[in-house]
Amino acid sequence: MSHIGIDLGGTKIYGVVLDDGNVVREAKRKTPVRGGPMGVVDAIADVVSQLGGTDGVTGVGIGAPGAVDALGVVQRAPNLPGWDQPFPLGGAVSECLGGLAVAVDNDVNVGTLAELRLGAAQGSADVLGIFVGTGVGGGVVLDGALRRGPTGVAGELGHMVVRQGARKCGCGGRGHLEAYAGRWGMEKRARRLAADGQDSLLVELGKKNRLTSSSFAKALAADDEVTVELLEEAVAALGTAIASCVALLDLDTVVVGGGLADRLGPGFVERVDSAAREQLFLKDAPLRVVPATLGDQGGAIGAARVALESVDGADR
Ligand SMILES: [Zn+2]
Repeated sequence: MSHIGIDLGGTKIYGVVLDDGNVVREAKRKTPVRGGPMGVVDAIADVVSQLGGTDGVTGVGIGAPGAVDALGVVQRAPNLPGWDQPFPLGGAVSECLGGLAVAVDNDVNVGTLAELRLGAAQGSADVLGIFVGTGVGGGVVLDGALRRGPTGVAGELGHMVVRQGARKCGCGGRGHLEAYAGRWGMEKRARRLAADGQDSLLVELGKKNRLTSSSFAKALAADDEVTVELLEEAVAALGTAIASCVALLDLDTVVVGGGLADRLGPGFVERVDSAAREQLFLKDAPLRVVPATLGDQGGAIGAARVALESVDGADR
């Protein structure tokens, strides 16, 4: 039984065919910058045909950025060009694929589900997935099931307050986790420090191009003072957020993934683990803070699992 999973990102659309838990084909293309939501629908159909079409495929799952409701309507997707109104992505892709069942969920929810079913959180029932990249996203699993919430954004811990009234976040709020641990927030801070006279290798690396996760790894390896300090703040903020989530939900596993965490490696996750542990209410709680294992493929694999679980009703 095959399912197709699509990871719809701001720059690329990546798809896999998942057969019995194994990725048997993969394909990708750039996310169209013109054409709005219908342009994205056509591009997804193109990836599906690159994957070999829909013969023998039971369903398609899509992980989309932004708020997604239970009917597959993407309410807000600021990272996708021309996507300024709610759009029924699931229905439109299904129509384009001859009526095949299509399930849509938030990209970090599907990433968390992938780690739960096939990655680092296998065997756990109460899980927090944290994805550290340009921003910080998260997904929550309670009693073995993904918690979506009435508006589909449960687990969006990037906008959890970790320092009251402090640094401004991209969303306009203050002291949010994302302002400290997201790449964009750290880049902004590094540029501000440079403007105030504290230069850094990070700003040097970001002169020609936008900073990537590799730029952070490079600057850290060179012991760049600002980078070391920014990552210390990121680790502390992640630790605070995790400890708060554990206090609220009594989780057993926290999976840390996303471009920046993957690039910085297990050492970074170990530091986050220690920072979280210091702030736990129960100091000896059997909490595991572990690196994600599915990397870049996680989103698409999770999307295929969403198709399997919602279309076929299977939950394991
Ligand atoms: Zn925010």
